[in-house]
Amino acid sequence: MDTESQVELLAIETHQSCSYCSLPEGSCESWLQGTRITPEHYQMLLDRGWRRIGSYICKPIADKACCPQYAIRCEALNYKLTKSQARVLRKMRKYLMTEGTEELEKWKSRERYRPVAMQKEVNPKEQPIGIGEAIVIQDNNKRSVGSPDIPWHLSEKSKKLPPRSGLGPDPDKPLCVKSKVRKMNNKTKSTQQQVPQNHPDAYEILRSQIPHLNPADNFKRELRVVLVPALEDDLRFQSTSRESFNVFKKFQTVVIKESESEWSFLKWSRCFTDCPVPHDFTGTGPGYGNFHQQYILDGKIIAVGVLTLIPNAVVTEYFYYDPDYGFLSLGIYSALNEICLLNELHKIDNRHKRYYLGAYTHLSPKMRYKISFAPAELLCPHTYKWIPLQECIVALESRTPRLDPGREDEIRNENESVHTTFDMDNLLVCYECNNITYRQYILEHYGYVDGGNAGSSVDVDDRKEELETLKQYVSRVGAKCATSIPLRVPVSLYPL
Ligand SMILES: [Zn+2]
Repeated sequence: MDTESQVELLAIETHQSCSYCSLPEGSCESWLQGTRITPEHYQMLLDRGWRRIGSYICKPIADKACCPQYAIRCEALNYKLTKSQARVLRKMRKYLMTEGTEELEKWKSRERYRPVAMQKEVNPKEQPIGIGEAIVIQDNNKRSVGSPDIPWHLSEKSKKLPPRSGLGPDPDKPLCVKSKVRKMNNKTKSTQQQVPQNHPDAYEILRSQIPHLNPADNFKRELRVVLVPALEDDLRFQSTSRESFNVFKKFQTVVIKESESEWSFLKWSRCFTDCPVPHDFTGTGPGYGNFHQQYILDGKIIAVGVLTLIPNAVVTEYFYYDPDYGFLSLGIYSALNEICLLNELHKIDNRHKRYYLGAYTHLSPKMRYKISFAPAELLCPHTYKWIPLQECIVALESRTPRLDPGREDEIRNENESVHTTFDMDNLLVCYECNNITYRQYILEHYGYVDGGNAGSSVDVDDRKEELETLKQYVSRVGAKCATSIPLRVPVSLYPL
């Protein structure tokens, strides 16, 4: 196992205002910082629900958040274009065939500042944080305002009048399902059925309809999409970074409604240039690491997708666009292009299989576009298994953080027990630049094991406190990451 990675624990739990329901301290996240993370280790973290913002690695804690978020991915090799997505491609084609500013002006005057339905809106929660920004550490023993003190299934929404007396439900009939859930189930089922398994032409059909990949003679405008390594010494990146930043700033101000002073070029660089997954250009294809996919219309950047390319996946980390071009549904357009990118990469290296779309919360209508890229899967925060979307709908609708409640044995055996059964002696840590086990570390740093003090000046309580923190870290990252990704010790949570 390649152990060139190194992470630092910043916070076991932070609680900030929820960007979906505005509940103060409603969100709950764990934070790491990656000094360096190999693509294989980043893949492992993705499959435990972590995602990166610059060199920060963040994990939403579904059980403790008012609006649970789940990692979502799409089996992009089996993807099939839907009717509404095809409409987005036709709209772009039509726009490229026109001249003048009529369409643009119409949009600007009427719709510029209105949120676009199904636009790939960036969840404000996905907004990157700057290095100087505060991460609020919550005392782990205190419940946050956002943490439900009552089980999800007994929450406000499900409080109902006591049942009337009678014969009760007919045991011979199927369980009653809410019409909303039933409709959602039918919709996702039909979407899944549309997708032929390993259909050889599904990708080619998509590709043939993407305008910039099939420019026509009657196009009056030019749309180019360029994949640029996000490297300060890359000439293309260097020469376009200011222009890209200006698009980002406009997006944050108009779409996310942040103040203009919120973002500096330096802060943007830290969030979108910094990346713990190192660039690797040794193979064929674009390589691995942090890339910006620039959408350039008639020589002007109108949108940017921030991507991490790793051997198994294309990961979309952030997307921003010039709000003036919101009428082109650039979020959906870019996602379709990224699905094409993955399929092209698969031709070069068949390990490329999945398209990761970040986090999904069912409570935000703006997020619904993510589940339209079928076949979609959500990561259960208890079993850490990827569950097909149609099997998650009931849990999502009933706000149950656990997505596969029927698999109790697996839950018990695989994950809930990691906190108590994991042998902390095996935790991999990085101490004074050496990767060693936790057992070796306590011998070297504290000078004793299990009670015997060999003259160390470190207080026993400090060691106990650190051990408890490390146990919580293990429960967040899982046994596989805990034994293969070195964690820098001694742990000093941020801020102290
Ligand atoms: Zn919320």
